[in-house]
Amino acid sequence: ASNGNGDGTARVVVPEIKFTKLFINGEFVDAASGKTFETRDPRTGDVLAHVAEADQADVDLAVKSARDAFDHGKWPRMSGYERGRVMSKLADLVEQHTEELAALDGADAGKLLLLGKMIDIPAATQMLRYYAGAADKIHGDVLRVSGKYQGYTLKEPIGVVGVIIPWNFPTMMFFLKVSPALAAGCSVVVKPAEQTPLSALYYAHLAKLAGVPDGVINVVPGFGPTAGAALTSHMDVDSVAFTGSTEVGRLIMESAARSNLKTVSLELGGKSPLIIFDDADVDMAVNLSRLAVFFNKGEVCVAGSRVYVQEGIYDEFAKKAAEAAQNWKVGDPFDVTSNMGPQVDKDQFERVLKYIELGKSEGATLLTGGKPAADKGYYIEPTIFVDVTEDMRIAQEEIFGPVMSLMKFRTVDEVIEKANCTRYGLAAGIVTKSLDIANRVSRSVRAGTVWVNCYFAFDPDAPFGGYKMSGFGRDQGLAAMDKYLQVKSVITAL
Ligand code: NAD
Repeated sequence: ASNGNGDGTARVVVPEIKFTKLFINGEFVDAASGKTFETRDPRTGDVLAHVAEADQADVDLAVKSARDAFDHGKWPRMSGYERGRVMSKLADLVEQHTEELAALDGADAGKLLLLGKMIDIPAATQMLRYYAGAADKIHGDVLRVSGKYQGYTLKEPIGVVGVIIPWNFPTMMFFLKVSPALAAGCSVVVKPAEQTPLSALYYAHLAKLAGVPDGVINVVPGFGPTAGAALTSHMDVDSVAFTGSTEVGRLIMESAARSNLKTVSLELGGKSPLIIFDDADVDMAVNLSRLAVFFNKGEVCVAGSRVYVQEGIYDEFAKKAAEAAQNWKVGDPFDVTSNMGPQVDKDQFERVLKYIELGKSEGATLLTGGKPAADKGYYIEPTIFVDVTEDMRIAQEEIFGPVMSLMKFRTVDEVIEKANCTRYGLAAGIVTKSLDIANRVSRSVRAGTVWVNCYFAFDPDAPFGGYKMSGFGRDQGLAAMDKYLQVKSVITAL
């Protein structure tokens, strides 16, 4: 697992790391405690950087700076048009630094360099520009109040937003939350995941260059139970926007309830079904399923990890899916021929391998993969289980790694029931040529996003979020702005 010629001897490329301190009130500063933590390179397990570790005292400072910027600063008071101009400038700067930023996420998260360059960073800039364009289109309604009154609503920014994000898409997650919050006129305190703090610090630097006033964006790397919990329990934080696991989502709601009843939005885990019907083109369906579950090493909340194939094509599909998995090249994310890099860290690597052992002990059969893919680093082979039943833990729990559970079904009604047989409801995929089946299943599956004859088709205009225990609230789309806005009714006597 090395860069370049794939013989294990080439040098592992490590990008230059410029920003490792907390970003508070427009300055990079050490943690008050002086503490740092290590972020590691999953290609080797070596330390990549020592990053300042925020705890309660630092989060207090960051929230204070965000509060001051909101209560007294110009950001919420400037016109939406002006905010949009600054955000557009930030988008341009992000774009100009694509190479460097993709390399940072590559080394910090094990993300394919190409994926960063072609997908994560373009999606982030598109998100910024989408909400930059929305910033001057925030308006209320004229009310039909009865009697001798006139009334209207104002939409005002909600205030200080705590943003807590995971490590699988460090760049996209940052802008998914920060873009609409900035457009609304809020200020933010971002706690990136402890596994991948580096690109968020870089974005804080670029935001300052773009003209985002001091205090409007603060970044406090640190751990969940300390820095994260300090943010969610803070009396001066008005809202928390979270993406991460269902377990932590529950803790965040509790913390919000116990402190100041701040609003929360939760984008949580998934165990999404990909349903392939007999009339599908098998080769196309195999390619789609490989993408659905092995893309970004399976570290994707919407991964189509439960693949249901109708009985008429099941055997052919299974054979071709195994071949396709074997041809999915695992290797250094900086090598352009790699299809999949290493899992993000040692914990995640061990967790995925444990699930593979669990699958075997539950009685599922390994069709392919199932082992580490290199002697060094956190690489795992693309893995497919067959003989999986709904009651198995590998069919119910989110593995968050390159593991597919392949299952057979007979009828449409049966597969709808099976698809819904999970506590999650984030996404679903359908492959069929029948419009009737596509419509029926789309409407019956309890999931926030349904893809028909595609997977991972994202757009800033398409609301994204979960049903059931995949959370509530929507990112993306104009409606996502509402999470960051308050509605005020103004009623005047005539
Ligand atoms: P995680 O929930 O462990 O951590 C996510 C973030 O929460 C991290 O920044 C972490 O430091 C913080 N955190 C942890 N404990 C906390 C606490 N007590 N208080 C406040 N913050 C705390 O999740 P993870 O392992 O980093 O990420 C994987 C999970 O994220 C998976 O379940 C995945 O499905 C989910 N995810 C969901 C989406 C989505 O849009 N629905 C997208 C990506 C990932």
